[in-house]
Amino acid sequence: MRIDILSVVPGLLESPFAHSILKRAREKGKAEVYIHNIRDWASNKHKTVDDAPYGGGAGMVMMVEPVVACMEELRSRRQYDEIIYMSPDGELLDQPMANHYSLMSNLLVLCGHYKGIDERIREHFITREISIGNYVLSGGELAAAVFCDAVIRLLPGVLNDETSALSDSFQDDLLAPPVYTRPAEFRGWKVPDILLSGNTPEVEKWRHEKALERTREKRPELLKKH
Ligand code: SAH
Repeated sequence: MRIDILSVVPGLLESPFAHSILKRAREKGKAEVYIHNIRDWASNKHKTVDDAPYGGGAGMVMMVEPVVACMEELRSRRQYDEIIYMSPDGELLDQPMANHYSLMSNLLVLCGHYKGIDERIREHFITREISIGNYVLSGGELAAAVFCDAVIRLLPGVLNDETSALSDSFQDDLLAPPVYTRPAEFRGWKVPDILLSGNTPEVEKWRHEKALERTREKRPELLKKH
């Protein structure tokens, strides 16, 4: 999978892809992530990428020309399955959406900044708008990193134990069961005996029961779907 991310603050995107699972995914060639500085496509000598909004009011708006120039150059080289704009008014990101995008080959993700992007970019280029929650961030970069993390960890061969993504919360509309590691006892707090029993079918049964219990307690609305 290849993901091209367009941003006016590309530095914000360096760290999320340089560590842990996302780093490994890139090193193994499972995910290629390219971060593009929209400023490189600005045509004027000051490399301006934002301007005051028509009609007045506070804040700046990301200009149409540099974003379109960047998108058209990238689009001339490959076909994108989706051109995504991270936006608080987009569709809420969830696990089925992450699963869906993990099957794609080429994604382009545009991060907004300031008051947002010139509406004409949304009308003529964007094929999907995604929000990571009902709150406003100062830029789309952190949202894009969240989206890419949720997608890339699902790619085959990225997680060490390939089945582990399937046992995470929200797959099957169930929350994940509790997990423990050594020591078996800490300050008198014991790990449930069943997990030390070595009886795999019983452990699986226990985990399923705990997943149901936890979902019933914390997110009962998921069980209606289950
Ligand atoms: N004025 C806009 C918010 C702009 S915030 C509004 O009220 O809708 C600046 C940028 O941050 C946006 O262009 C978007 O790319 C990003 N952003 C902010 N909140 C986000 C969220 N919840 N999910 C995804 N992207 C978000």
